[in-house]
Amino acid sequence: MEEAGRMLSSCALCPRACKANRANGEVGFCKMTDDLYLARAALHMWEEPCITGETGSGAIFFTGCNLGCVFCQNYDLSHRQLGKKVSRKRLLEIFYELKEQGACNINLVTSDVYVPIVAEVIKQAKDQGFDLPFVFNTSSYLQVESVKLLDGLIDIYLPDFKFYTEKKSIEYLKAPGYPAAARACISEMVSQLKRRYGKVCDLDEKGQMKHGVIVRHLLMPGGLLEAKMIVKDLYQSYKDQVYFSLLNQYTPLTEHLKDYPKLRERVREREYQELVDYACHLGISKGYMQEGEAISESFIPAFDFRGV
Ligand code: SF4
Repeated sequence: MEEAGRMLSSCALCPRACKANRANGEVGFCKMTDDLYLARAALHMWEEPCITGETGSGAIFFTGCNLGCVFCQNYDLSHRQLGKKVSRKRLLEIFYELKEQGACNINLVTSDVYVPIVAEVIKQAKDQGFDLPFVFNTSSYLQVESVKLLDGLIDIYLPDFKFYTEKKSIEYLKAPGYPAAARACISEMVSQLKRRYGKVCDLDEKGQMKHGVIVRHLLMPGGLLEAKMIVKDLYQSYKDQVYFSLLNQYTPLTEHLKDYPKLRERVREREYQELVDYACHLGISKGYMQEGEAISESFIPAFDFRGV
């Protein structure tokens, strides 16, 4: 764990570059030291079909977040440190337990503030011959150097691209530099997989993703223009090399939104349909959309330390 210790002793994993000595118990914006905290490790059936597969994705939910989203759906997890402390050894055991339960991959959900640690544990697993694909499910507010630590270790990247403009990123995510960071992270992810496999995405005969990049965008109330800009920008850069996942499950949790009246609204079905039509019109053929009503809060799993 030497490399992880070095990187966390003056933390600059994300653009906030707090320089906190997390290895020594200090904390930065994300409020996490170098101790690992998890809230849940269980089969998860609500990812994109090529990630969920037939048996479910082995999703491990990490505690702590480096964003400050005013519309956060998992506030206890991201900012109130809800989680159970686990050792690196225990994380490795969890990989095997999820495989035993039938997981078709190991899905690291918002492990962004632990990148050097998870990189070392994944490496250990791979050295032992652990053969499930690893999924890195990220908000994309990382330095490129952090994503480089995952080169050769992560098979499937699931990056969010939340806002296109600096103005909205600061207002709603409290994250200066978010759009540039997200763009640079996605570019690094695409390059890694292209170098390693010759092409970015590949699915097996059952339609499960073996490796690839799926960019997620959650349509926000009043966010149609931003969403179109994101889709257009990424499609111009990568064409069909990456998958798009356009989400309409925004659920306003109004207790934190009194100063953000627009975000207290729901996304209208016709706006979402306009985004999907726009993506199709651009020529996007690889991707996912959601059908029907916005997904309810029940799709947010219980963070009850199951499997931890
Ligand atoms: S991960 Fe980001 S927010 Fe957390 S301490 Fe490091 S630089 Fe700061």
